[in-house]
Amino acid sequence: MLSLCDFIPLASPNILQEDIDEVCRVLRSGMLVQSVEVRMLESNLEEYLGVKHVVCVSNGTASLHLALLALGIGKGDEVIVPAFSYVATANVVEIVGAKPVFVDIDLATFNIDTEQLDFALSSRTKAIMPVHEFGLSADLDAINEFARINNLYVIEDAACALGSKYNDRMVGGSSDFSSFSFHPRKAITSGEGGFLATNSDALANKVRIMRNHGISAQGTDMHFVEAGFNYRLTEFQAALVNSQLKRLESMIDYKQVLAGTYLDKLVNSRIQTPSVPNNCRHSWQTFHVLLDDKLNRDSIIVKLKDVGVGTNYGAQCIPLVDYYKSKYQLDCKALYPNALRAYKSGLALPLYEKLLTSHIDRVCDIISEILI
Ligand SMILES: *Cc1c(COP(=O)(O)O)cnc(C)c1O
Repeated sequence: MLSLCDFIPLASPNILQEDIDEVCRVLRSGMLVQSVEVRMLESNLEEYLGVKHVVCVSNGTASLHLALLALGIGKGDEVIVPAFSYVATANVVEIVGAKPVFVDIDLATFNIDTEQLDFALSSRTKAIMPVHEFGLSADLDAINEFARINNLYVIEDAACALGSKYNDRMVGGSSDFSSFSFHPRKAITSGEGGFLATNSDALANKVRIMRNHGISAQGTDMHFVEAGFNYRLTEFQAALVNSQLKRLESMIDYKQVLAGTYLDKLVNSRIQTPSVPNNCRHSWQTFHVLLDDKLNRDSIIVKLKDVGVGTNYGAQCIPLVDYYKSKYQLDCKALYPNALRAYKSGLALPLYEKLLTSHIDRVCDIISEILI
């Protein structure tokens, strides 16, 4: 447990002795590559999410990549993505040879603004990839309706949203694919890791083949039916996640308490705290606030670090990062003013299982002092 006077990092995974014991058990067994532990994790996640198929892969970017390939998205196609996210969301679209078409976000939720989807539509649009930013579900009803009317696939980038709910249902079963990550910044972790969730037998079968060298196995009969990848998760990684998954619901409950402390204490006219729509359960992967645009966010990050609090910007305005800026030369100020503002004035604060509410109190007190 962190002591109250220690430096409070922005994030820190909570790996307990029981998790380490599970990893050691699997290491001693000598079975290291994808087998029974991975299958058990998939079945536990299928039950947790209430979805027919879960396919574990080596990370959350690999899972987005496989989803696009399985849906046949490639050269000449366009995919709608939010302008504010982690770069991986757009990178995978580029990697398959398709074009990411950016849509601005809603500053109340930091998620894609569904009122602006129509402007991004063209005859080449094949899919929409909403992101559940920071663990708050995007407006899935509006997105699924837009996709149905326009005959588009929906791939949810749910990297931050394991355990998030929309309309009383777990995020992860309402679209063609949902993609999750087990990076240490996410709810539970295997170091690197991720998975796809889908209710389609055919799509699940495709991604299972593509993650394992293109091998289709019927019993002991193996056929190399595709030019596939090795995107497998290891057995000891699966054991590490399986062990943490048992605590996920209590972890999310505890994060509601920590987030509640922030929401109660961080009342300052120069900070906009997150708001959660009534039909959502936020899983609080990140507690992300928006600073007054007259404040210099970067110098606040430095000041907070000097007094013992780790913070950072929340996500990128993707059309502004080097690669996208030089390739597409989009005018972010005119086209994505909210994504630009969220990138420039957004601040991610510490919120994770190892913290006590007294740590959050201290962070709030320090922020109030700095912002006077
Ligand atoms: C973390 C993250 C990813 C990438 O996941 P990795 O497992 O690190 O590859 C993709 N999209 C979003 C929104 C993320 O937060």
